[in-house]
Amino acid sequence: METRYIFVTGGVASSLGKGIISASLANLLIARGFKVTIQKLDPYINIDPGTLNPYEHGECYVTDDGAETDLDLGHYERFTNISTSQKNNVTTGRIYQNVITKERRGDYLGHTVQVIPHITDEIQEHITTLGNTGDYDFVITEIGGTVGDIESLPFVEAIRQLRWQKGLNSLVIHLTLVPYLKATKELKTKPTQHSVKELQEQGVQPDIIVCRTEHDISENLRNKIALFCNVDATSVLQSVDAQSIYEVPVLMYKEGLDREVLRKMNIDKVKEPDLTYWKDFLHKLRFPKQSVKIGLVGKYVELNDSYKSIIEAFTHAGVANECKVELELIHSEYIDNENVSKKLSHLNGILVAPGFGDRGIEGKIIAVNYARTHSIPFFGVCLGMQCAVIEFARNVLQWQDAHSTEISPQTPHPVIAIMAEQENISDKGGTMRLGSYPCRLLPNTKVMQAYGEENIRERHRHRYEFNNQYLDDFQNAGMIATGINDDRNLVEIIEIPSHPWFVGVQFHPEYKSTVLHSHPLFVAFVKAAMQNKSNSK
Ligand code: GLN
Repeated sequence: METRYIFVTGGVASSLGKGIISASLANLLIARGFKVTIQKLDPYINIDPGTLNPYEHGECYVTDDGAETDLDLGHYERFTNISTSQKNNVTTGRIYQNVITKERRGDYLGHTVQVIPHITDEIQEHITTLGNTGDYDFVITEIGGTVGDIESLPFVEAIRQLRWQKGLNSLVIHLTLVPYLKATKELKTKPTQHSVKELQEQGVQPDIIVCRTEHDISENLRNKIALFCNVDATSVLQSVDAQSIYEVPVLMYKEGLDREVLRKMNIDKVKEPDLTYWKDFLHKLRFPKQSVKIGLVGKYVELNDSYKSIIEAFTHAGVANECKVELELIHSEYIDNENVSKKLSHLNGILVAPGFGDRGIEGKIIAVNYARTHSIPFFGVCLGMQCAVIEFARNVLQWQDAHSTEISPQTPHPVIAIMAEQENISDKGGTMRLGSYPCRLLPNTKVMQAYGEENIRERHRHRYEFNNQYLDDFQNAGMIATGINDDRNLVEIIEIPSHPWFVGVQFHPEYKSTVLHSHPLFVAFVKAAMQNKSNSK
């Protein structure tokens, strides 16, 4: 079938959940047998979010092909189980960079380069390039930000032009807020009307309006919105606050989002979506048989979005074990030798998070030490793994000055060191070891037991590595390398076999955990935490 394009815009306020609605629609269309991809267009000027502080923009998500992307791509993958790529996330910065590169090359043959048509053409090219692969029945494009923002104007204009070209093969879903006024006990539609007007002023008529709301929207209100906004009454849908984001596909199915999309695009004779697996997942999520307490030790804990993929990976792994994972986010900056027991002793498992720079690192090292010496299951991810190596060097090998050269460039024991090819790189954007790399697992290890296969691939995002110069010292003292990248002889995983479950990984397993495939290492870690809990009873 010819590729159809669905655009998802947002109005009234940000953070209404466009990403989740887009991912839910993709999920439903895939469950009906279609091939779907989702793309995010971000109106900010950074080339990608790789250089953004997690406080600003939440987690930076990494794709197989090494793109540093918006965290919404994580939702897309978790909901659809399909890998995204560089093509699935484009920012204003990248659009302008491409246009300016073309201008310098002389591609515009002396013409004045302008927002319309050059920037809008470039945006359209990024949208249709996914459709032109022929791999998809639907390309869903989510526009970041809110309609009416100055910076989203070129994107809305690009949609207007594409809609004109594609006709029935394109459709716009507008997500708005219908606020509830406590004082008068009323839901208000005016902000929705205004935001749709704004979109119309820019030449775009939405086909479907999804209203984010805290209370059910009555038939009357739906009719009112339909009347004022030029849409069918059946095209005004509600998205009521859900207990979990994973409820949203089922809620949107009940509202008929996918049905309405297919009707509007004249696609009929389609099978109903098969949601058996999804509903089973939700049932297990709602009714866990037991619970464990796991500490997530990091330095961005004020903002859940900074560790989005890790938190979601725990949801998936909890369901796989039919166990509720009660996650406690613990600020590493405030952990010291005096308070560590108070902060960590009640936990059944401890994960030390990824990160950059020296803030909070000593607290992370103390947390690793606590987990190691108290036989609490430990999972170190990227910087968390590096902290485990540093802790072992300091307290087992007795090299008190051991460190990573990221934090202490002159340390006499650089147990974590910069990769040779990274040494002379000064640009920060897109220059780390990024994306998917192979790793070979050693037999009779915790990781082999978890994955059940020898050769795996995982995604990376770091500059520093385990320093092989010290490998023998570590192995002789009881910390062994259990996952190796053979191409470059890099240590990707460390374990302490004498500990109940102590695993550190240089890569980011959390990026590959989805509802359909909960990540084997998170599943095994939660299992170890459950074991720890039952042992300590
Ligand atoms: N800062 C460390 C490095 O660059 C770890 C990065 C991470 O945790 N993602 O190697």
